[in-house]
Amino acid sequence: MAEAGSFADRVKQQADIVRVVGEYVRLKKSGQNFTGLCPFHAEKSPSFAVHPTKQIYHCFGCGVGGDVFKFVMEMEKCAFPEAIRIVAEKCGIAVPRQKERSPEERKENQQRALLVEMHREAQTFFVKQLEGTLEGKAARAYLEDRGLDKDAIARFGIGYAPSGGDALLRQLKSKYNEKLLAESGLVSRDQSAGRLFDRFRRRITFPIANESGKIVAFGARALGDDMPKYLNSPETPIYSKSNVLYHMDRAKEGIRRQEFAILVEGYMDAIAVARAGINNVVASCGTSLAEPQIKLLQRFTKRVIVNYDPDTAGQTATERSLALLLEQDFEVRVLALPPVGNRKADPDLFIREMGTEAYLKLVKEAPPYVDYLTARARQMDLTTGEGKLRAVNFLLPYVQKIPNRILRSEWATRIAQQLRLEEPVLRAALSKAASERRSEVKTQPELVARAAKPVERRLIRMLAEAKGFRQELAKQLQNAHLYHGLETEKIFAALVIANLSGQPVEATEIGAVLEDRDRRLLFEILFEEANEPTWEEAQSCIEALQHRQAERELADVQRSIEANPAAPELRGLLEKKQELMRRLAAAR
Ligand SMILES: [Zn+2]
Repeated sequence: MAEAGSFADRVKQQADIVRVVGEYVRLKKSGQNFTGLCPFHAEKSPSFAVHPTKQIYHCFGCGVGGDVFKFVMEMEKCAFPEAIRIVAEKCGIAVPRQKERSPEERKENQQRALLVEMHREAQTFFVKQLEGTLEGKAARAYLEDRGLDKDAIARFGIGYAPSGGDALLRQLKSKYNEKLLAESGLVSRDQSAGRLFDRFRRRITFPIANESGKIVAFGARALGDDMPKYLNSPETPIYSKSNVLYHMDRAKEGIRRQEFAILVEGYMDAIAVARAGINNVVASCGTSLAEPQIKLLQRFTKRVIVNYDPDTAGQTATERSLALLLEQDFEVRVLALPPVGNRKADPDLFIREMGTEAYLKLVKEAPPYVDYLTARARQMDLTTGEGKLRAVNFLLPYVQKIPNRILRSEWATRIAQQLRLEEPVLRAALSKAASERRSEVKTQPELVARAAKPVERRLIRMLAEAKGFRQELAKQLQNAHLYHGLETEKIFAALVIANLSGQPVEATEIGAVLEDRDRRLLFEILFEEANEPTWEEAQSCIEALQHRQAERELADVQRSIEANPAAPELRGLLEKKQELMRRLAAAR
């Protein structure tokens, strides 16, 4: 797919597949490979391998495999050109300015760039308002009261939107046209008069950055009693709230190091947690997690501690997020903070009142989600059959969403025990629900690799990468029809053709012309630990194949003789049989 000399080829040469895959999968060095949990099927022990020098990946469990582009295409569900761009960006390779396909597209790109610029200007404006105006002084007092000092204000870019109603608008009006201003979400349009005015007024502003750190929206908290208390940017061409996790741009490193993420509800919570030195925290900035946010998260970790507010909305959000996370095979724990005094505590309040240590301790002890859920179910009335049924129906959807069958049945048993649901009917309901899960990855029988003989494996490996004699070897195999009739015939054929064409042999290109099961076998062979091959070794492998060829021929001749002992060509067949037996005996 990557033509020699093309940009794709250049990216492929320069890209480090271990680094790119490493952004999505936690990889550990293992021999000459790197291994980790396969992102394409549910598993508990790693069968996913990346080869740093061959620049390919392969899953010994579900059989997926390919090069860095294929990986990104599968992960991001994108097309080849997009994958090239993503890989190039990840590896710091400058992408040549793309020819936009249409004038509209060019216009949209320009517009997005302008909107980003506008947000940067708005950010500068809000920060100045907080620092240098009388109104801003009142806002600073409020922030101080919430425990946010100068450092925190600077670190999180907190600003202030004044009450005037058009202060920001006046600032931006000279540079941007009305249409773009209205689209930015920074200003709103008066329904009746059609007049523009600032969307955020008399509010503390929090810049919301996308994953790469560009400000694309604002969250704003009312300074007084204005409603709503929290007001965010609307959906715009550069911002979709389901695509962004607050603080993700700064949490990435921490998440990778800690190997888990803490998920909180709002930006105040994320700021409080991050300020306490716990950097691996992100906020969903909405009532519940959305699927694109989960996809973003799973590029960095598959372990999450959900720490939402303890109120009813927070509980509902926790449960909805749980369902989504479980479906994506996340390892989820739930941190439900105890009340502080008689107040229900969100992370912000809890850390302010109880301190970082107390919070960290609870993070470490956060129970698995199933304990949280059964505790919730136990709050229901379990004395009546009806109540028990309600509890089971509350839990069933979660059980169903667990992709791993063994884990699922374990949880089913545990739930039944904890809720004292001994009735066989209820157990049956749980196991029925569990078995009705359809999205489970099944090992397809046709994908199970066949056992190719060691000689074949060795020759395939040589054809793919032996320096110096690949072509000569291909010629010999071709001329003597040595691989015909082998189980691995198609792999040999593809490799021989590639070698004889004189082009460099690329595993992924060979894989692309093979059927899935053959590609899978090829990749398995390429991942085997092996010594540098020699020409002598190649010769002995060829002799072994010749021997097997003679044996196969002998069997054929024997069958023909037995099938028709009176045939006129019997004499010829017998001679052939003698000759083959001589050859086989000589080879021993
Ligand atoms: Zn897999």
